[in-house]
Amino acid sequence: MKTVNWLEETQKRKEELIRTTQSFLQMKSVLDPATAKEGAPFGEGIREALDYALGVCEQAGMTIKDVRGYAAHAEFGQGEELIGILSHVDVVPEGDGWSTPPFAAEIVDGKIVARGAIDDKGPTMAAIFAAKIVMELGLPLSKRVRFIFGTDEESSWKCVNTYFATEEMPTMGFTPDADFPLIYAEKGLTDLTLRQTLAAFQAKTAHETADVQAKLVSLQSGLRMNMVPDKGEAVLIPQELDAQAIVERYRQHLADNDLKGSAEEKDGLVVLRMEGVSVHGMDPGKGVNAGTHLIHFLHTLQLDARATSYVRFADQYLHNQHYGQTLGIAHDDAEMGPLSLNTGVLEYQAEGDAIFRLNIRYPHSVSFEHWSAVLAAHGAEEAFELEVVEHLTPHRVDPNHPLVTTLQRVYTEQTGEEAGIIAIGGATYGRSLDVGVAFGPLFPGRPDSAHQRDEYILVDDLIKATAIYAQAIYELAK
Ligand SMILES: [Zn+2]
Repeated sequence: MKTVNWLEETQKRKEELIRTTQSFLQMKSVLDPATAKEGAPFGEGIREALDYALGVCEQAGMTIKDVRGYAAHAEFGQGEELIGILSHVDVVPEGDGWSTPPFAAEIVDGKIVARGAIDDKGPTMAAIFAAKIVMELGLPLSKRVRFIFGTDEESSWKCVNTYFATEEMPTMGFTPDADFPLIYAEKGLTDLTLRQTLAAFQAKTAHETADVQAKLVSLQSGLRMNMVPDKGEAVLIPQELDAQAIVERYRQHLADNDLKGSAEEKDGLVVLRMEGVSVHGMDPGKGVNAGTHLIHFLHTLQLDARATSYVRFADQYLHNQHYGQTLGIAHDDAEMGPLSLNTGVLEYQAEGDAIFRLNIRYPHSVSFEHWSAVLAAHGAEEAFELEVVEHLTPHRVDPNHPLVTTLQRVYTEQTGEEAGIIAIGGATYGRSLDVGVAFGPLFPGRPDSAHQRDEYILVDDLIKATAIYAQAIYELAK
């Protein structure tokens, strides 16, 4: 067997690769319900990009199949087993502030700048060209290789759900939609609501607290479960403590704890505002949760009975409990890291519901059934009911699986660098495959421009990724 110089083979096709990638990027494949129709469920732009990718594959000699425009595949090779390469042709909206038009795909300083350049149309085209190289070299394969193109990865993943409802699940595969060297494990992801209705609280508690200093009318903090809230606001009615005293106490609390916020008296009410630091909910300890910090102050006041219940629960179980320590659900996994807890949204209405919306991520070595039961039991202490809004189970491929070891070896041969494997708290497209990992396209140390203005892929990285994917496809399918 002659040895192939994958980088050299890629260089020979460089101009065509760049041109084809640019044309692909020039299609505005943003979700557009206004132009959705039979065969194009997410609109015309996405349909056009899907057809373009299929066209390149068909011209290369692959057989294609369209699954009602939700997803499509292109296949080559032969054999029982199937190697999957899963990517997506849709992109997030371009947003404002670009230095060059977002769908011009101009080359600036060695970068192709366009929405979708790194996520995920650039790497999609790199992988297609990688397959073209394998095909054009006429290398013998003992397995089939299938590109699966999704069309709404950036929104609801209906594409893969629809596709895999009827189509074959690959034996193993990768998605070029995250980071090099390789992501082999992803935590389980949950969005949960703890809700206490007024009726449930009243059924539990008959008596009002004595000597109430203030009544909590409302509290609001945060917009999304997977973000640490950076703003919080509470409205109080002064009782035993007058408005000015509450305002002064709050200002003192802010000063003592090095926090930012404000307090004002307005129409007989006191409005307290807290400013935190918003970060992604997968690592809540890096932020400052405005909502739970506000709660921590309220906990120093004698409030009405219902507010006391709400505040006590949050102060004990949620404030600075980024790993669920006091809830008793903390669990650290040597490989995948700890269970993490983010309180993304806090809502309290004296005459309505009292709510915490949580984002909890957990490693594969602890069971959802176990920790969610513990959480539900603590919630029940204060008449909160637990609702599971979203649950994605942990995803992991054994580090000794040939998929992982083969891709590691290929990465090292192509880059000369060690291929450490990564476990993450987020989710990649790789979890749509039963045995799937994320493999590129972002090289270690490169800033991630996905979803940002001036999104780009370095031309050199596009070439390098293509060479890596070419060898990977061959090694996995030979
Ligand atoms: Zn993506």
